[in-house]
Amino acid sequence: MKKLLTILLFVTESSFCQSSDSPNIFIITTDGFRWQEVFTGADSAILFNPDYVKDTATFRYMYWASTAAERRQKLMPFLWSFVVQKGQLWGNRNYGNDVSVVNPYKISYPGYNEIFTGYNDWFVSLNRPKSNPNSTILDYLNNSSVYKNKVAAFTSWKIFNYILNSPNNTVPLNCGYQQADGDSLTGTETVTDYIEATSSYNKEHTRRDILTFTLATEYVKKKHPKVLYIGFGETDEFAHHGRYDLYLNQANLFDKFLAELWSFVQSDKFYKNNTIFFITTDHGRGNKSSTWASHGFWVKGSKEIWMVQFGSNIKPLGEVKENETVYATQFAQTIASYLGQKFSAEHSVVPASGLLLSSTGKQKIYDKQVTIK
Ligand SMILES: [Zn+2]
Repeated sequence: MKKLLTILLFVTESSFCQSSDSPNIFIITTDGFRWQEVFTGADSAILFNPDYVKDTATFRYMYWASTAAERRQKLMPFLWSFVVQKGQLWGNRNYGNDVSVVNPYKISYPGYNEIFTGYNDWFVSLNRPKSNPNSTILDYLNNSSVYKNKVAAFTSWKIFNYILNSPNNTVPLNCGYQQADGDSLTGTETVTDYIEATSSYNKEHTRRDILTFTLATEYVKKKHPKVLYIGFGETDEFAHHGRYDLYLNQANLFDKFLAELWSFVQSDKFYKNNTIFFITTDHGRGNKSSTWASHGFWVKGSKEIWMVQFGSNIKPLGEVKENETVYATQFAQTIASYLGQKFSAEHSVVPASGLLLSSTGKQKIYDKQVTIK
């Protein structure tokens, strides 16, 4: 009965949301970035190891402090000053608040498949350049009446050209070292294209995140997509190279990207006070100082992710400390619900997370079913 009630209430809510000022959403990921750093900052067992950090003295100065609260503030100041006041941070396992991927492979393609399709496909198990058979929430929205042709994706990793390229895909994708599209490029786009063309030869799989960010931002200013996905990749790259120093710097830069993008959103009439930021990662990594650089089926800690959300109608819960679990497969339908939509596809779609829905203002009604203490 409770289930039925939830469904009925959801339908009412959905129809209410479909107005002309339908909300915008920016989905943003940084690949393979651990919850441990998000919530407790730099790890001394890795930070002080010269195998992983070239100049331990400087990095101690940059990212070390005696408490987790100070360390995370140093690493990600926007998250831990602004977002913690205005939004929600999920996934601190020290409180039993778990965010997890469902797929057993714990690598990128299956992780992103899960996030965007709401479906754990056992046959999606490799990071191969092979088009995804499963439709994504981006496909769905780009064909919906409200969000038609208002969706775009920019990613550093070129395999997204396949992950997001289902048979139903109509979303414009700019992945890897792909140049800016269109006839009237801005000066910034022209310069970015030039940098790409002259620097891609030795780094062809993952574009520099700063270039992805720049092209995405230019597109946002020009085209005002209502649904935007930006996928950053260098946190995972530097981790695989065993470079904890560069991994931390990249996380710090990611935090700056978020701050810059949000300040643009809030200064732009189209987006202001009607935009949600939904931020997560595709997999965790090893949870020991000896395994942090790696991830996958055999590496303990690799299913452990996190998510952060803030913006229009997201309640300011701060760091969520409830003993609860949210799964990445729930993200796609949750995102659809935030936009007043119901995602359906040729594959099954895991229902939205009642926990996340109940943490938004518009879905207050859910508080009766699922309580956040
Ligand atoms: Zn990786």
